[in-house]
Amino acid sequence: MTTTASGHGTRAPLRAAGPWRNWGRSESSRPAFRASPANVAEVQAVVRAARERGLPVKTVGAGHSFTAIAATDGILVDLDRLQGVVTADSASGRVTLAAGTRLHRLPELLAPWGLALQNMGDIDRQSIAGATSTGTHGTGLAFGGLATTITGVVLVTGDGSLLRVNERENAELLPAVRLGLGALGILVELEIQCAPAYLLHAVEHPEPFEVIDEFRARVEAADHFELYWWPHTDRVMTKTNTRLPLDAGRQPVGAVANWVEEQLMSNAALALMCNVGHLAPRLTPSINRLATRVYGDREYTDHSYEVFTAPRNVRFREMEYALPLDEVPAALHELRAMIDASGWRISFPVEVRAAAPDENWLSTAHGRESGYIAVHRYVKDDPAEYFRAAERIFLAHGGRPHWGKMHHLDAGVFAERYPRFGDFLAVRDRLDPDRVFQNPYLERALGR
Ligand SMILES: Cc1cc2nc3c(=O)[nH]c(=O)nc-3n(C[C@H](O)[C@H](O)[C@H](O)COP(=O)(O)OP(=O)(O)OC[C@H]3O[C@@H](n4cnc5c(N)ncnc54)[C@H](O)[C@@H]3O)c2cc1C
Repeated sequence: MTTTASGHGTRAPLRAAGPWRNWGRSESSRPAFRASPANVAEVQAVVRAARERGLPVKTVGAGHSFTAIAATDGILVDLDRLQGVVTADSASGRVTLAAGTRLHRLPELLAPWGLALQNMGDIDRQSIAGATSTGTHGTGLAFGGLATTITGVVLVTGDGSLLRVNERENAELLPAVRLGLGALGILVELEIQCAPAYLLHAVEHPEPFEVIDEFRARVEAADHFELYWWPHTDRVMTKTNTRLPLDAGRQPVGAVANWVEEQLMSNAALALMCNVGHLAPRLTPSINRLATRVYGDREYTDHSYEVFTAPRNVRFREMEYALPLDEVPAALHELRAMIDASGWRISFPVEVRAAAPDENWLSTAHGRESGYIAVHRYVKDDPAEYFRAAERIFLAHGGRPHWGKMHHLDAGVFAERYPRFGDFLAVRDRLDPDRVFQNPYLERALGR
């Protein structure tokens, strides 16, 4: 079969699928078919084949969402063969990427243009399309999440046609398609506003829990500030990163020290601590206190992506809520009191970050300066009670859940918490009227 620009006449590359499960082992599904299209026409053909067979179709990136947002019993599509730079321009900093591109490939891909992502979260395993579609973010009050840097997309909509959305074409759809939960179509290309490649000077050290009362001042004073609190302790680990030009010179952590911190302490030792805590929960407070003494007390300067991200080899489950920034201290005090009163033994730290307000309709930071509080549980520990109790606190403080992390909300609540929720639904009606991209998670979050 020949490949045509419209995808008509192209065979859908469907094959038998094995079971699928996500990174956090919190969700699984049995797709009827799997497809790994090699070009855009094949993506279109998959959508048309799904319609003909009456099957839903979902695209999966790295499967790093903790919710069932990517799960399907229909056709599971991955864009692993659609990776790389389509176009790039050093002067403007605009880069168009194939949508399946994994974040960890970007340092090498963007090096020829001297560019880098403006901000990053904790890891780099995600696909660029999956990350932006769930509102993936890092920290920094002057920076929005990844979706705020998307200046254009090309997507395959529910009838299999191609739609371009950018500052010149269909610009009114940008606030929807940059962060579309996979509900509006299959993104095949994304244009990103990058920054000139930069270094980060990182200062990481333990401080008293009371630092949380100065959270606004700390995030205002730094380019990128975050903290981790180990439950059952009165210490937090702070991370303060300052942006520097490349010619400021790297002073990286030595290879051995880096291995000790990132592989041994943050992964192997953490796995050991979590397993001991799982088998003997009463030891968890002592283990956590030990962790605050041996973890992260260092200062170094390195490439932005080296500082922002680190390997995460110990599996866990996560819930994260975005709160109005000034609600963060009160919510953290309540979280601490709740954990202390509960008798639970929580072996994973609580992570606290910040982001600028933005205009994307379903962004967790839509219209307000935001502080993010994330709670985690080791994969072998049941997160249900802890997350439910934490969620009650976050909701009472006006929280909105991360779309890729566990929560218990539905469309009725989102309609109240997102002023442009109705506009997003109207775009979905236009781009996917027959709900080709629907799954049970989206039905709960967005309605039928
Ligand atoms: C260890 C770990 C660390 C994390 N750290 C952070 C962090 O620091 N900050 C943060 O905000 N989040 C973080 N996350 C969450 C993660 O960034 C998001 O869940 C992200 O969506 C995962 O990207 P993915 O490629 O795995 O997407 P998936 O989980 O595979 O898919 C997510 C959604 O995107 C859709 N999608 C994927 N590709 C396309 C496409 N081409 N077109 C349309 N829709 C598409 C899927 O259908 C689904 O709806 C972390 C997750 C893990 C497991």
